[in-house]
Amino acid sequence: MKPESLMMSYGYKPHLSEGAIKCPIFQTSTFVFKSAEEGKSFFEIAYGLRQKNEKEELGLIYSRINNPDLEILENRLTLWDGAEQCAVFESGMSAITTVLLEFLKPGDLLLTSSPLYGGSDHFIKKILPKFGIEVVSFTVGQTRQEIIESVIKTGKSEKLALVYLETPANPTNDLIDISLGKEIADYFTKNDKKVYVAVDNTYMGPLWQHPLKHGADLVLYSATKYIGGHSDVIAGACLGNNELINRVKVLRTFLGNMAGPWTGWLLLRSLETLKARMDIQAFNAKRVADFLNNHNKIERVYYLGNFTEKDGEQFKIKQKQCLADGAMISFDVKGTEKEAFKFLNGLKLIKLAVSLGSTESLAEHPNTMTHADVDPILKAKMSITEKMVRLSVGVESYEDIISDIKQALDMV
Ligand SMILES: *Cc1c(COP(=O)(O)O)cnc(C)c1O
Repeated sequence: MKPESLMMSYGYKPHLSEGAIKCPIFQTSTFVFKSAEEGKSFFEIAYGLRQKNEKEELGLIYSRINNPDLEILENRLTLWDGAEQCAVFESGMSAITTVLLEFLKPGDLLLTSSPLYGGSDHFIKKILPKFGIEVVSFTVGQTRQEIIESVIKTGKSEKLALVYLETPANPTNDLIDISLGKEIADYFTKNDKKVYVAVDNTYMGPLWQHPLKHGADLVLYSATKYIGGHSDVIAGACLGNNELINRVKVLRTFLGNMAGPWTGWLLLRSLETLKARMDIQAFNAKRVADFLNNHNKIERVYYLGNFTEKDGEQFKIKQKQCLADGAMISFDVKGTEKEAFKFLNGLKLIKLAVSLGSTESLAEHPNTMTHADVDPILKAKMSITEKMVRLSVGVESYEDIISDIKQALDMV
């Protein structure tokens, strides 16, 4: 069955919860063992003191290690990406930082695409160096050979341990080829040391891009965005094979940054409508983009649906790895910050807020908000200017979204 058909039931056994059709909130810190022997054997497995028998499941111990709301959520999330296992976290940042800390050690080199989400960028450039981890970055359009050469130029190519990608780029929708990231990781992999590939897939959500199928080892999400989808919860997730997610879960246990039962329950509820919400968002975004493409106060529209054969490599990457055009649109109004702000202040239905992927449409000004902290040279190179506005298209009537945009543009 398709994942959307399984989101209401997969992994939950009603008879274990008094027949309740929905998974209750297991608001409990600890779980009662039936016997001392059972407690002993649960701990042996949890701490890796022995392997699980074939039929054995890890019993419930303590909510920092496991909790039914989190386990069912994790099992359901694996279905979208075709992953063996998932670990959920209290935020996207905690998922990302836990992966970076698990797969990098002092002396290592990290290769990333650029630009990255501001929080990830800060952790990689300001915090990882304190642990002796260096970073080298590449941008959209650089070739395989150029990227390999820039890694070699660091003089630490034998220390490359992780390739970390984010695609499409926020807010310009430029695409990075995930399989190219994999080729570069393979190029620097040696018999005794595998270079892993991690992809932050937040911008496309679990529906529209499946990085594991293009060679990624780990997929990361801010579940605050499409997965949560209602702007009412902060959460994160990491997916991959059993070996890698077991490593991530061990570090999560000791950092203590797992999601709580409430967060797990909210996300279980959100997942039931994930496909329905994202389908409508993509449908609406296409109509909003069509409107923007033809408006005389708009200079340029950045939207995956606008890529054509003429865009060459970018179009090819889109055809290869994106299953839809998404619901994120950026555009340049004719003018400067003044005109962009006039537009933003004139919106009535669309809310002026950062974040994305939620039921309500949101608009923001990357240059002074989400990307305020980005190096000005990089901003200029990426065409993040004063006149750019970013939209996250929600599930409202597309006619109402468009008429709100139209009346706000009329004020410019
Ligand atoms: C929001 C976001 C994050 C951070 O997630 P939080 O849930 O806010 O911690 C990371 N990556 C991307 C691409 C995001 O949009």
